[in-house]
Amino acid sequence: MFWRKRKLEKTGKMRSAKQLGMIVGLSAKEVNVILRKKGYLSGKPGAYNITSKGELYSEVRGNSNGYGGYAAKSWEFIMWDSCMIYELSNDKYPGIDWYCDKCNAFLNVQKGFNDHKKHWKCKECGYKNLISKEGIVAE
Ligand SMILES: [Zn+2]
Repeated sequence: MFWRKRKLEKTGKMRSAKQLGMIVGLSAKEVNVILRKKGYLSGKPGAYNITSKGELYSEVRGNSNGYGGYAAKSWEFIMWDSCMIYELSNDKYPGIDWYCDKCNAFLNVQKGFNDHKKHWKCKECGYKNLISKEGIVAE
């Protein structure tokens, strides 16, 4: 299995924590916990702050319910760049993209892929790839 080091590149596509979570199968809550662990957020659930690291990949948007007077309500929410998806994985080798030795398929996105496993059977071609640092062929 060969690999490439991934650079966290902004895509410009903004998504909420909930939307990011839907892609990777996590709840918005879980997404925030991971983002906090990785230093993009600080604080506690319900009272998160964006860190300076997080500011690079996020923007705060406001919203209101459209009512005036006493019924008016507004709130703020954080939108994250879609590249944060890569930060949400619980990778053993963070920032490494894995490719199938036989068919070049990008393995990280295959359902159930997890680089904590010793082997990964490619969903495209069925080839059994070895996941290890030793097997790595650098670009
Ligand atoms: Zn393959």
